[in-house]
Formats: sequence, structure tokens, C-alpha cells
Amino acid sequence: MQNDVHSTPSLAEAAHWQARDLAVLWHPCTQMREHPDTLPLVPIHHGEGVWLVGMDGQRYLDAVSSWWTNIHGHAEPRIAEAVARQARSLEQVILAGFSHAPAIELAERLLALAPRQPGRAPLAKVFYADNGSAGVEVALKMAFHWFRNAGEPRRTRFVALENGYHGETLGALSVGDIPLYRRTYAPLLSECLFAPTPDSYLANDEKDAESLALAAADQLATLFDRHPGEICAVIVEPLLQCAGGMRMYHPAYLRRVRELCDAHGAFFIADEIATGFGRTGTLFACEQAGVQPDFMCVSKGLTGGFLPLAAVLTTQSVYDGFLDDSRERAFLHSHSYTGNPLACAAALASLDIFDADDVIARNQATSAMMRKRMSDIARLPHVADARQLGMVCAFELTRGGDKKTPFDPALRVGLRAYRAALARGVILRPLGDTLYWMPPYCVDEAALDLLAEVTRHAIVEATACA
Ligand code: PMP
Repeated sequence: MQNDVHSTPSLAEAAHWQARDLAVLWHPCTQMREHPDTLPLVPIHHGEGVWLVGMDGQRYLDAVSSWWTNIHGHAEPRIAEAVARQARSLEQVILAGFSHAPAIELAERLLALAPRQPGRAPLAKVFYADNGSAGVEVALKMAFHWFRNAGEPRRTRFVALENGYHGETLGALSVGDIPLYRRTYAPLLSECLFAPTPDSYLANDEKDAESLALAAADQLATLFDRHPGEICAVIVEPLLQCAGGMRMYHPAYLRRVRELCDAHGAFFIADEIATGFGRTGTLFACEQAGVQPDFMCVSKGLTGGFLPLAAVLTTQSVYDGFLDDSRERAFLHSHSYTGNPLACAAALASLDIFDADDVIARNQATSAMMRKRMSDIARLPHVADARQLGMVCAFELTRGGDKKTPFDPALRVGLRAYRAALARGVILRPLGDTLYWMPPYCVDEAALDLLAEVTRHAIVEATACA
């Protein structure tokens, strides 16, 4: 154990930390009243690979990659070493008027790796922020400001997808469509146009995933027609609506978004914050559709899950639209930790691991291993849908085991599954009644066996209430 002060794992040790926590901490997106009786609170001592080790010595398989951030495993030694090395030399510097090698090198490498589409000028500039939501804010503000600079002040509207999610600051929430958030914060949100989701879950014998995606794209086209010259950008989570329940859609939709944005002179913002860095099978999800966005937001896996950092990649022509003698035409956005050197060093080390370990190729084998283990679970009576995209598998639990008869939300089937899995040493964090696997990429056969076995138990136990 690495914690010198409290070195003996025990239930008493865990209880001690839990009490101290509850005395002072307010946890994210949590009804604090539910801690600890309804919702367990688990103090973690350290991490190693796919495992998190509790203060009580219990090992937990991190099947959600700690909010989808960790891609190479916890406490990955190469990233840890890179951060430590950087910390001994330069930990932070103001990025206005100053610069540093890790920020420059990282920008160069991200641009070299970004999706390319024949006939389009490549993404050529990087603007840093310090978390995913802030990255989304940057892209939205930049898109709007570009049109203002270009003498098109009527272009103030954003189009986003129903069931989409882009973060929780007010701007990012305004383009999100998670009902709980929208209901709660409605008076504070700015207006956004929502286009129907191309979600393949709604496909059936009459309409396959592709025709469903194309029909949704037709409705997006209608929105453009209804608002000529008003739309400044369309923002989407490419191929996978994560917070919306790990809903997946056909790449044909993204090709249509690209075409429609071009036809109507609007920007295409790809929020690759959750999908980027190999999660969907390719380095970026946009690659699977062969499209290049005008703005690409990345965060989460960018630093391998070590430190908060976001980057917004955009084109030379967007950048050029801000060049002028006036300060008002400069992009007005600054976070204190913009391009933090430690975070950039972690990101560079993470990109090195992609090369050294041939991560994208290795993930193909891992994702096949995940698929194999999905099939048993897919056959359980309450599983209405089992789907996979690269390193993500999701299971939809319903009362009737079909897509039409959901569980009564009051039963909190997802929460029951969460507790059942946690008791068996696996962290599943369902989104409503959708269970999903999104493990660090270093997950091996034995860990996947445990994951599948515990998921099966958790589903059986959680759905026994029906
Ligand atoms: N966009 C997407 C697609 C996300 O999944 C998230 C985080 N879940 C965000 C934006 C916001 O990132 P952050 O939590 O770092 O603000």
C-alpha cells in the first residue's frame, strides 16, 4: 500500500475516511442524502491498471474508466513518470504572451492525428481549455464570434441533437438534451434548435440503422431550411451519444451533417470528448464516417485520464477570421490553467503509449473479446438491446425485455444493478437503466470474465424487483 499514514486496509479504516468525507465533501451530481445508506461511498486508496483499491483493501474493476477518462489504466507508470519529470521543471505558466514545449508539441501531434477529409484544408490550429465543458464553450463561442467578425451577426443559433450531452456549464448545457438537466436549469439556458437523434436503438425491421439516420438527417435539413442564415454551427457527439445512454448511430448521419453544414455555410462541431482517443475503435469517431469537422473538441482520454485538459482543433480559415487590429475581434476566452504543462506532458506520454503499444490495433482484439462476452448477457430476459461500438458495450434493461416496456423509473433498476455489481467488486455506473462497459484499454481476458459474470449477476438481481 502506498499511503503511509493510514497503511492498514480495513473496514474501520474505510469507515473513518467515509465519515471524514461526508463531513466536508459535496460530491458531483449526487443526491447527498443518499450517502451512505442508499448509495455507497467508497474511499479509494490507489489505482493499478483496471483496478481501484479501496481503503478497506477491496479491489474494484473500473468498468467506467473513471468517468470515461482513463484509457491506459490507473497510475500508468509511463504517464506518471512524464508528469513527475515535467513537475520538476515547469508546472504552470500563463499561456498568454508565453508558451512552452509540451503545449507546442502536443498541438503539433494532435493536428497530425486529426481526421482528414480529401479536398478540405486540414485542421490547423489548437486552442486549449481545461475540461470538456470548457472546450465545448470555446467551440461555441468561437463559431459565433467568427460569424460576427465576418459581418454575419444573424448567425447566432446552434443546432444540437436530441438526447445529446456536451457538458454542464451553462453554454454546454444549452446545447444538451438530457431531460433532468434541461428541466432543472431551463430558465438559465440559451435557446438552441434540436434535431431528432439518429439513434439506431429506434431501428426495426422496416427501418434499418442507416435509413433511420438518413431520415433524421432529412429533418436536420428541414431545420436549416426554416432558419436561413441563422445557424452558426451544428454540434454532435459523433457516432455515440454517451450520457444519453450509450446510444449509437450510423456514420451516414455524420456525412449528411457535413454536407448540410457546407451547403448552408454553417460550422460542424464534433464533440469527441468521450469518443476520442480510441474509444469507438478508431482514434477519433469521425474517421469512421470519413468526415472532418470544422471544430473538434477533445478532453477526457487526452491525458490518459491523469489531468484535466481540453483542446479545440480548428481550421486556418477560422483562425484567420480573428486576425485584425481590434481586440474585440480577437477570441475572448482564457482559463488560468490553459495548456497546463503537466497536463500537456501527460497527453504527450499518452500519445506515446498509443504508438509504443499499438493501442488501436490491440483494441480490435480486446473489443472482440468484449463482444464474445456480451452474447450471454444479451440473452437474459430483461435485456432489450445489447450493442457495441469499439471499446463500448451497452445493455438496455426493460421490464418486458423489449424496447417498448421500460421499467418504472421509481424501481431504480440501474441503481440496484450498480449496488449489486459494486458488492462483487465491479464499478458499473448505469445511465438510467442502461448498463455499459467502458473499461480502460488494458483490460484483459480474466478481468473481462469477471466483468461479464458480475454484470450477469447484477442484472438478475436488479431485475428481480420487477
Ligand atoms: N462532452 C461530452 C460528449 C461528454 O461526455 C462530456 C463529459 N461526460 C463533456 C462534454 C464534458 O466534459 P467535462 O465533464 O470534462 O466538463
